[in-house]
Amino acid sequence: MSQSTPLITLNDKNQIPQLGYGVWQVPDIEAEKVVQEALKVGYTHVDTAAIYQNEIGTGKALKAAGKPRKETFITTKLWNEDQGRDKALKALDTSLSKLGVEYVDLYLIHWPSPQRGLYLESWKTLVEMKKSGKVKSIGVSNFMPEHLERIIGETGETPVINQIELHPRFQQKELRAIHEKHGIVTECWSPLGQGQLLADPVIAAIAKKHGKSAAQVIIRWHLDNKFVVIPKSVTPSRIKENFDVFGFSLDKEDMQKLAALDSKEGRIGPNPLTAAF
Ligand code: NAD
Repeated sequence: MSQSTPLITLNDKNQIPQLGYGVWQVPDIEAEKVVQEALKVGYTHVDTAAIYQNEIGTGKALKAAGKPRKETFITTKLWNEDQGRDKALKALDTSLSKLGVEYVDLYLIHWPSPQRGLYLESWKTLVEMKKSGKVKSIGVSNFMPEHLERIIGETGETPVINQIELHPRFQQKELRAIHEKHGIVTECWSPLGQGQLLADPVIAAIAKKHGKSAAQVIIRWHLDNKFVVIPKSVTPSRIKENFDVFGFSLDKEDMQKLAALDSKEGRIGPNPLTAAF
């Protein structure tokens, strides 16, 4: 029986399925197979990026699934080297052509890459892209408070989403407060800590209590916090397991225990302020 994913309304009135399927580090040739698997299981939202180099395989899977275009929410991202107006416009056209679609549902600036000094110009270009209809919603990824405040202050256009590293060990409370202030939805990458959180004894105990897996408990925690969450797996049984998260809920005690896992040292990926790419 297929389960429909809850939708979150963005600040531009478009809606995004709260649970998506992420494809970072999936080779193009494999993407075609695993994205089809995810669509078969019931995912309606796929998160890719130009730099993942799997937009062609992802697009082939979308076509093979044979669903009307509007039934799948597709996100892709502008890579750092393509920041700046001219390169960004070309990069979007390349992504659309690789994906084989007329538009993407969400286009994100992948990293602020502050040393390039181009994220504001890139953001203005995304605003243009939205007007052109090639992109339904525009947002950012890995933006810190100063980057968000600058693009909003200079353009008056607020991103719908900031896609950031967020999991129980790195809960990003300060950044979330800025999101709340501006009506920006928090989307979480590496929600399972790239698999590193799955052996955590606190999470394991909660999983045992509910007869669920650690991955399911973590994804449920993201959903209960009203985040958008995009776990990745290439294993069919896990793709299915990660989607089977709608039939249970965490209680107050579980949520308190998970909240206590937050750590200032919990970041796994690069720090957006110092990332050298
Ligand atoms: P993740 O936290 O989703 O972990 C994925 C890994 O966890 C898998 O490779 C597998 O080893 C393990 N796993 C997944 N499901 C499991 C299960 N049910 N049981 C046991 N092990 C399981 O890591 P991620 O891929 O880094 O993040 C998810 C998505 O977020 C990416 O695919 C990508 O779409 C996005 N992302 C975005 C950025 C960005 O800068 N915007 C950065 C990283 C990732």
